[in-house]
Amino acid sequence: MPSKPIRGTNSPPIPLQVPRFCGNEWKYLKECLDSNWVSSVGGFVDRFERAVADYLDARYAVATMNGTSALHVALLAAGIEPDDEVLVSTLTFIAPANAIRYVQAWPVFIDAEQDYWQMDPNRVAEFLVRDCVWRDGGLRDKGTGRRVRAILPVHILGHPVDIDPILDLAAKYELTVIEDAAESLGAKYKGRRPGNLASIGCVSFNGNKIVTTGGGGMVVTDSERIAHRARYLTTQAKDDPIEYIHNEVGYNYRLSNLQAALGCAQMERLEEHITAKRQLSAAYTEALRDVPGIMPVREAPWAFSTFWSYAIRIDPLEYGMDSRGLLQWLDFHGVQARPLWQPAHLSPAHAGAPVSGEAVSARLYREVVNLPSSVGLQEAELHQVVDLIKAGRQ
Ligand SMILES: *Cc1c(COP(=O)(O)O)cnc(C)c1O
Repeated sequence: MPSKPIRGTNSPPIPLQVPRFCGNEWKYLKECLDSNWVSSVGGFVDRFERAVADYLDARYAVATMNGTSALHVALLAAGIEPDDEVLVSTLTFIAPANAIRYVQAWPVFIDAEQDYWQMDPNRVAEFLVRDCVWRDGGLRDKGTGRRVRAILPVHILGHPVDIDPILDLAAKYELTVIEDAAESLGAKYKGRRPGNLASIGCVSFNGNKIVTTGGGGMVVTDSERIAHRARYLTTQAKDDPIEYIHNEVGYNYRLSNLQAALGCAQMERLEEHITAKRQLSAAYTEALRDVPGIMPVREAPWAFSTFWSYAIRIDPLEYGMDSRGLLQWLDFHGVQARPLWQPAHLSPAHAGAPVSGEAVSARLYREVVNLPSSVGLQEAELHQVVDLIKAGRQ
């Protein structure tokens, strides 16, 4: 490792992923404060739900306090019950695996494919064909004896999962499909939008996502029944609001009007954000083209990726340093980069869960680095990051 700093020691740090507020955010927030509508009821909540539903070409959207609660409610609304099994991507942020446990169901972890790093439809098929049996009018996992009820593909890093084969398998085996589109709002799969490719989709508006409300989420569906159920469960299962009658255990999962106000302003900027991310991605890929051992994240021919997080895979032998070495090198120079997530099946919290494949996600976890990808990242900053990556191998 060279010891001479390449970026000046007083250069401001380059963060991984920060939001950008340069539209109507202040204006809409002020309207909330001036009108006293700050809590979980208000015009902006309805408007934000409508904006997201329209964007995804879905009939209904129900706002929630974050993406994880959206996943929890989606699983409940889909009728997933204790001891059911749900197939889920193992290469993901942990939220969907945890949400499966909230309803006392069990994850079955599906490996990633090596081209675009998404849930591998072949591994889904392999598990359903090899490890399951049709018994008593339902599909059962031969190993655990549990009912297999649903598939939860996670569209990671702004790119869609190859979902058609998964939808076909789900139809054949009578499984519900719940999408986690938290990272891929704005992407396209064969012209259609992740988040509305299956019966239920979930979105997140966490601070690092392409549209943010600080914290927030949404359950998206074309089904009136599921939308009603999601709304009911997120509002304390309120059957009579005047008499305070609650016939089931519900949740206080609603988004506030303040957050929804931010969301409305951010949705107005979504197309700009996507364009900015795609430009950054093209610039990174071009600048890193001739660096040995660095392979940029790719976009499938059937996909439109937002490149929400720009990532590179590192061949340590060719590059001369492994991903963790590069992370340290970048960190030393004030550049915030991150690995992918530890595959969920390796988390002690989910130990013992059935898996279908694990080699690809394990390798990607070792080899992939996420680079700074904020919408507002400047061209000059991007080139500083690239120069550091080039210098790192010398
Ligand atoms: C961000 C994210 C979520 C939801 O996270 P929240 O912080 O609860 O909004 C879910 N799944 C994935 C893959 C995510 O990246």
